[in-house]
Amino acid sequence: MSKILIVEDEEAIADLEKDYLELSDFEVTIENRGDTGLQTALSGDFDLVILDLMLPGMDGFEVCRHIREKKDVPVLMVSAKKDDIDKIRGLGLGADDYITKPFSPSELVARVKAHMARYSRLVGSGQKQNDMVEIRGLKIDKTARRVYVDGVEKNFTTKEFDLLTFLAENPNHVFTKEELFRKIWNMDSIGDIATVTVHIKKIREKIEFDTSNPQYIETIWGVGYRFKV
Ligand code: CA
Repeated sequence: MSKILIVEDEEAIADLEKDYLELSDFEVTIENRGDTGLQTALSGDFDLVILDLMLPGMDGFEVCRHIREKKDVPVLMVSAKKDDIDKIRGLGLGADDYITKPFSPSELVARVKAHMARYSRLVGSGQKQNDMVEIRGLKIDKTARRVYVDGVEKNFTTKEFDLLTFLAENPNHVFTKEELFRKIWNMDSIGDIATVTVHIKKIREKIEFDTSNPQYIETIWGVGYRFKV
């Protein structure tokens, strides 16, 4: 459940906001002073802070500034005056949105939901994605070293995986068996380039629907192999 902190000194407003947010399945904490609100915002694990501007102890400008120094949590600032919103913007405090009193509780809830969705997208996009190579139904997860064919995982040995990945990352390029052997086995190909042929055969059995009519790895007779895109 998402947690919201309301910092608001007018008890009736705070309670109304809380009621509406709880109806939308948010878990709500209320603080009625700026200084204690700041402490709670910094020590707790909130998904969003609704921050009134005029507060005892410390005003909303200061609270917002201090929160921003420490946390990325979205801050929705509430003010009774349009002028104050201009001031918040001018100060560049890093508030994510502003709402003027009086507002309808449903408008507040809508704003909160929009910000939470936006924030989770931003956080999500910041996560490191696995390095993937995708060609038609073939999906190679380089980070996890896993291969999927039409959504089904296939088991690959280390060399099979390396060979397939190398070819898939260099499509439309013909490589000789010697080149592939040197590249993947990392030594001069003295003699055993048949190893490449054996590995290509095994890879095809795993990724091709019809190995006699390969859709991914083509044999270029007399030369070597080419990955088709
Ligand atoms: Ca107030």
